[in-house]
Amino acid sequence: MKSTILHTMYDIFSDWSHHLPVVCNRGCSACCTENVTITATEGEEILRFAAVESLAPWLAEKLARPRTHQSVEMTTNDFAGACLEGREIDQDDIHTTLPCPFLEENSCRIYPARPFGCRVFISTKRCSSIQPALVPDYYFEAATAVNQLVEHLGQREYWGNMLDVLPALLDINEFREIGTLLDQTLIIEARLRTLTAKPLPGFLVSEKNNGQVTQLLETIFSADVEGKRLGDILNGH
Ligand code: SF4
Repeated sequence: MKSTILHTMYDIFSDWSHHLPVVCNRGCSACCTENVTITATEGEEILRFAAVESLAPWLAEKLARPRTHQSVEMTTNDFAGACLEGREIDQDDIHTTLPCPFLEENSCRIYPARPFGCRVFISTKRCSSIQPALVPDYYFEAATAVNQLVEHLGQREYWGNMLDVLPALLDINEFREIGTLLDQTLIIEARLRTLTAKPLPGFLVSEKNNGQVTQLLETIFSADVEGKRLGDILNGH
């Protein structure tokens, strides 16, 4: 059911934002770096896709590369909780511009299974070395809110850099074939670098953008998933 909920959220967000004049197209890959964070549910989507597409050796080779990515110190919901409580946050800037290892010839090899963090990388202006991606701030706040829901859905499971969460999941029977292709020490070390996904502490939405973001969240909460209201499922009912 988690996979269905995840895709329902992806689809609603995509419909909600389709009016934006996005300039990205196939071959645009400036935003495809090693900074992507995911939940275990999203990781399982990628591993399942790799298995179905016979990409196990390819994926194992990518995950076995010497580590260059940075691990994350706080989940999105940890960060939101700290902000809502007015706590000071002392986070190192961990952003890197190293390309994502799943990028091949400027295309994403796992595109149909890409996580939410990748789906929201868009720009309304062509990016360049002097022009970073540009999105309206209400879009950024809405994407963060849905990202928080994705984490809430995966609460108590792994959360972290995609290149840590994927190896961490390789003890699940369904994915053992990929796990056997990797050094077990690498898997254990990756697992130690992951964090735990947290429940939603509240949203980080400004008063100015509250209307647009609330409209999106209400659409998500009222969606039907296998005969249940998605908001009720997320609330544990
Ligand atoms: S997973 Fe795909 S879409 Fe996401 S950063 Fe990597 S190459 Fe880009």
